[in-house]
Amino acid sequence: AALYKVDKWGAPYFAVNNSGDISVRPYGTATLPHQEIDLLKVVKKASDPDSSGGLGLQLPLLVRFPDILKNRLESLQSAFDLAIQSQGYDSHYQGVYPVKCNQDRFVVEDIVKFGSGFRFGLEAGSKPELLLAMSCLCNGSAEALLVCNGFKDAEYISLALIGRKLSLKTVIVLEQEEELDLVIDMSRKLAVRPVIGLRAKLRTKHSGHFGSTSGEKGKFGLTTTQILRVVKKLKKFGMLDCLQLLHFHIGSQIPTTALLADGVGEAAQLYCELVRLGASMKVIDIGGGLGIDYDGSKSADSDISVSYSLDEYATAVVKAVSFVCGRKQIKHPVICSESGRAIVSHHSILVFEAVSATSRDAPVMSQLTLQYFAEGLAEEAHADYRNLSAAAIRGENETCLIYADQLKQRCVEQFKEGNIGIEQLAAVDGLCDFVSKAAGAADPVRTYNVNLSVFTSIPDFWGIEQLFPIVPIHKLDQRPGARGILSDLTCDSDGKIDKFIGGESSLPLHDLEGSGGYYLGMFLGGAYQEALGGVHNLFGGPSVVRVSQSDGPHSFAVTRAVPGPSCGDVLRVMQHEPELMFEMLKHRIEEFVQSNEDGLALANGIASSFHNMPYLVAGSSSCCLTAAAN
Ligand code: PLP
Repeated sequence: AALYKVDKWGAPYFAVNNSGDISVRPYGTATLPHQEIDLLKVVKKASDPDSSGGLGLQLPLLVRFPDILKNRLESLQSAFDLAIQSQGYDSHYQGVYPVKCNQDRFVVEDIVKFGSGFRFGLEAGSKPELLLAMSCLCNGSAEALLVCNGFKDAEYISLALIGRKLSLKTVIVLEQEEELDLVIDMSRKLAVRPVIGLRAKLRTKHSGHFGSTSGEKGKFGLTTTQILRVVKKLKKFGMLDCLQLLHFHIGSQIPTTALLADGVGEAAQLYCELVRLGASMKVIDIGGGLGIDYDGSKSADSDISVSYSLDEYATAVVKAVSFVCGRKQIKHPVICSESGRAIVSHHSILVFEAVSATSRDAPVMSQLTLQYFAEGLAEEAHADYRNLSAAAIRGENETCLIYADQLKQRCVEQFKEGNIGIEQLAAVDGLCDFVSKAAGAADPVRTYNVNLSVFTSIPDFWGIEQLFPIVPIHKLDQRPGARGILSDLTCDSDGKIDKFIGGESSLPLHDLEGSGGYYLGMFLGGAYQEALGGVHNLFGGPSVVRVSQSDGPHSFAVTRAVPGPSCGDVLRVMQHEPELMFEMLKHRIEEFVQSNEDGLALANGIASSFHNMPYLVAGSSSCCLTAAAN
């Protein structure tokens, strides 16, 4: 288990149990030993066929743990509560969850439900996100904020204003100066007093991968000149009291509390200036950026780690705001954060299966093949072959490799010219593999083919090379016999995972031989991956289960199980119409297949393919299509 550093990146939610399986501790440090859930048992329950008590879902499988979400929210809230209390801060913390991190209905509904006791709200960045946030917050705390970020048009703004009429605490955060005219105009038309925030472009710059939107030249927010113009205009229209919130976001994964305190301090100065200019300021919204330790290194030098804990993060924020406001004698604002990654990353695990691996067996060279092979060679290649044999007898590994390489190149040339056949070309490949293996130069890294699409399920690995912990979810009490990279189902050379946490270019993996499947889990991927994933090669999302602790030791309940999108569903995404496609193929069957019985079997086979997921089905040699074809 130490090989995979589970205790480093996994704490406090993931560990390895006595059976060598990953166990999930939904309540973090508060988990009692018997409350651990064996992840392999969840996968078996979800994927075993109905007949053996399973739910019959196809892999890949996303396993959600709502209790982890609850624990993350409560931990964030209590970190701020503690910092506020210990520093005598004179206001409170009330966060919002940026729904873009994971818009799944049940994730957002859970967050609203779990957070209603401490006024937790939502943040939206587009019209559909605003619609979902408005409807979800109808069940939330009456004091929860609904922060409206992103570029806005009149429709977006009027939706936010309608929200206020419905007693939702929408705050329209100006991302661009032009939005102000629309806000003034629409609020008059709808006769609503808006609550306005503004996003400031801070000078503080986060130089890591996720900080490209920060600094003076960042993509979003208002410059100081623009902020002054906004204040002036609001004053002119008698609406300066509507300006109540200051927002900034210097990027995700802020690496250190020093950088954080720098940004928060600068924003707090701006906040105090807005108070001085007459705005009715109430909230400082510090954006996202609370980081996750994906590699367990707790190091600010790693793009995928951070050097602080939740408590240290909260303390740094409260201290920075309190220091600035104290000096200026400004009433302490409500502190709001838009932490997304830190709330949802841990709650889901993507489980997928390795279906095959490249062989490591040394090629067997029979005397007969060698003889046949050598006889057909042209003179120069024959000389290489003789030299190779002589070097092998002398035990000169380096020389063997040189002659083998030379021989191979010559044979490829001969093949291209049509002078040797495919059998000889295969024989030279086999010979060269044999030589490199014998000389200890064979690549020891195997390729494990996994029933997954990287583009669909781990898009940040493909897009920005972000690493996530990937670990077998069982056999962790057995020493892995190989190292491997993972290759997905897509017909695309980018569809592979060949970089792993800790800077490794391969992963220790177990042999696939033996009974049962070999399951791997991708952890900490609950933020961004689901919404960013595409349908490359028309592979859709995974099946999903929600799992909660239930009565009794080590027992769990699957409270929701949804199969992943079918072939028909993903075809529909690209405007195809599965029903028409099926009709077309059915006519074709009527035209070309004589027997009604055969025709029916073929039509059933095609129909079930439309209904099934695009991923490979384990042991699928007995599917309807082959049955029909037989
Ligand atoms: N708020 C805004 C405006 C953002 O752009 C983002 C994401 O980059 C977030 C919040 C969420 O950030 P994080 O996931 O780092 O918490």
